[in-house]
Formats: sequence, structure tokens, C-alpha cells
Amino acid sequence: MVPTLFEKAIPLLNKIEQAGYEAYFVGGSVRDYLMGRQINDVDIATSAFPSEVKKIFPHTVDVGIEHGTVLVLENGEEYEITTFRTESEYNDYRRPEAVEFIRSLVEDLKRRDFTMNSIAMDISGEIHDPFNGYEDIQSRVIRSVGSAKERFSEDALRMMRAVRFVSQLGFALEVETSKALAEHHSLLRHIAIERVTQEFEKLLSGQNKQKALELLLSSKLYNHLPGLSSKQDSLIRMTNLPIHSLTSAESWLLLLYLLQEEQPKHFLIKWRLSTKTIKRLCKDLTFLQERLGNDWSNYLVYCAGLPTAHRVENVYSVLEGKKSVEVDYITTIYESLPIKNRSELDLTGNDLLQWTNKKPGRWIKQILDTAEKSVINGEIQNEKNAIRGWLHRCKLI
Ligand code: ATP
Ligand code: MG
Repeated sequence: MVPTLFEKAIPLLNKIEQAGYEAYFVGGSVRDYLMGRQINDVDIATSAFPSEVKKIFPHTVDVGIEHGTVLVLENGEEYEITTFRTESEYNDYRRPEAVEFIRSLVEDLKRRDFTMNSIAMDISGEIHDPFNGYEDIQSRVIRSVGSAKERFSEDALRMMRAVRFVSQLGFALEVETSKALAEHHSLLRHIAIERVTQEFEKLLSGQNKQKALELLLSSKLYNHLPGLSSKQDSLIRMTNLPIHSLTSAESWLLLLYLLQEEQPKHFLIKWRLSTKTIKRLCKDLTFLQERLGNDWSNYLVYCAGLPTAHRVENVYSVLEGKKSVEVDYITTIYESLPIKNRSELDLTGNDLLQWTNKKPGRWIKQILDTAEKSVINGEIQNEKNAIRGWLHRCKLI
């Protein structure tokens, strides 16, 4: 039984075929389908050139037309349709400068990175697998298409991809692919950081990240990752912890903690992570450090917020070597909080000004902070008059 995502795309492949061209499902979706894994999107490859694809479908967007990719909008869905191509003129171990559109499926499959990613499936569900990728999937092996040394020299990012697939799929590297990785690791320095980060993110979200991190270490690839070249000890420590079920966000947090950087933000900037992500990670790190010295209090859960508290607790449990993680008690604390944020506090700066006739100043923030903490700790009700009476009794106003 072909999964729904493929079924939904079949009318598109039919249209391309009716126009006289070939069309196949390719790449990760076919690999994942053959492995029984969940599929998130389908990639379509065709012998039709981009201009021909655009004639077949009324609604298209040129998302990467220089690489042969046209985005087709059909039935409220988006599909990437890429023309068969070969890649030539690799400069500086990066992506090719020039691509040539071709009409041969096998030639297109040949330029792909690993045999498991070089399988095509047609609309009848028949598999086209000239490099025996299915056999490698069954043997759980990651093997370069052709000479691994050549393929890694053409595009050094493939080495990072190999390691992230180890993490996601739990496969092992085939001998020649593994040798090529150990030999060519230093070529990774030529690759744009954004591309490396993208693969590293996927590595960190995989179930087998322990194995993948060990491979980064043994192959020496880690030497060419931003800010990690002298951090072998921290990485080894990470591989010795039960990290398999950590999410990518939690893995970043653990790594950041283990690195003990004086300037964690600078380390994250090197990876070109978004400002939002950097902010979140720095916040999480502060609360992880807090958690390492204290249990969760109402106030700590309130200040952290539920998502941070959950991530921190998961990482804390890994650091403490706990087998099962219990984050439910944090949810219970959070749900019992009388207010979830400052705007819910039944006291404003204006109230304080009216009650005191004092001039505005820093004292307002200090009192609001104190009242907020006392409400959260259950010392006073979140009710204006109750708070006012309490402030009087404490001689704060
Ligand atoms: P995922 O499931 O994580 O998306 P994927 O295999 O689909 O994995 P993509 O980055 O989406 O990975 O790439 C789609 C396909 O394009 C791959 O399966 C592979 O055939 C080919 N490919 C991607 N990057 C490269 C590369 N650097 N060199 C050669 N082929 C590549
Ligand atoms: Mg993909």
C-alpha cells in the first residue's frame, strides 16, 4: 500500500507523463518509504526541463530554477519538481557552479550522494535502483554512489550528511565511505556554515546521535565544526550520556552546558543560528544552571515558563543519569500558578502612583517585582485590595 503523500502526488506525475516526459519519486521519501519510516514530503524528478514543467502546470514558482527546481502548486499543496541533471565544475569542494539538465534518470541518480538516496519510484510503485540502494538499506549501510573519495571531494558537505544519516537511521558507514571520511575530513572547512548547521541540527535530533557524535570524533570532522576544534573532551562527555531521546533544542543546550563557554552567545553566533534561537538557548542555559543547584519552585517555573522548564528538566535528567524523566510535576506546578505572566498581576504602576502620590521611578518596578513574587508564592491573593493591604502591612507603600 503506497502512503497517502505519494498517492496525492500521483496526478502530477501522470500529467508530466501525459505531456510525454518521465517523472519519478526520488530522494529521502523513497528511502523512508522503503524503510517503513514516516514521510514528510515527496521530491519529484523529471526528464522535463524547467520551462517544460512550467508549461504543464498553471501555478508554479521559480524557487531554484538554476538548479532545475520548480515549485508547483496543485490542489492546495506544494511540490518541488526537479529536472534530471548532472553536476559539473565543482570548485573548492563545494556545490557545483554549473548544472546541466539531462533526460536520463540513471545519470540523475548517479549524481546523488548515497545509494539509499539514489532510488526512484514510478507511479505504479516500481523501484528503479541502479546502484542497489535497497540492498544497502536492508543491510543498514550508508554507501557513496561511486568513489566515496571523489564524491566527498566534489562536495564536502556529503561527509556531514553521512554522519547525520547515521544519527537519523542508525546505519553504519560502508568501509570505503568510512575511510574517505577519515581521509577527507578537513575539506569540510570549505563548506558554508549554514549548510553545515542544517545537517548538524538533523544530527542532533536523530535517535542515534551518540553514534554520530562518536563518528564526528573518530573521523576528526569535529575539528572543522564552529567552535568545537579544541573541545574533544566536552564532546566525549556528551557521547557518554544517555542522549538518544533529547530533541535538537535540548541537545544544543546540553552541548552548550558541557562546553562551559565563558561567552555561550559567541559560540552560537559562530553557527549562524537565528537571533531567536540564540536567545532561547541562552535563556535555557541560565535556567539549567539554576536547576543544577535547586529543585523547581513555583517562582522558578514561573520565570522559566513551561517550554524552557521542560527542556531544562530533560537535560538535567540526562546529566544526572536518570533513567526515566518526569516532567509532569513541572506541568502540575505551572498549572497551579495563580498568574502565568506579569500582565495578569492585579497591580499596575498606575495603581502605585495613585496610592502613594510619589514620583515615578525605579521603586515602581521593585514593588511590582516583590508583589509578583509574593502572589506566585501564594503569600497574597492576586486581588488589588489584598495586594494593597499587604504592601501597607510590609511598609512598602
Ligand atoms: P531528509 O529526509 O532529511 O529530507 P533527504 O535524503 O531527502 O533527507 P534532502 O537534503 O532533502 O535529503 O535531499 C534530497 C535528495 O537530494 C537526497 O536524497 C539526495 O538524493 C540528494 N542530495 C541532497 N544533497 C546532496 C548532496 N550534497 N550531494 C548529492 N546528492 C544530494
Ligand atoms: Mg528531503
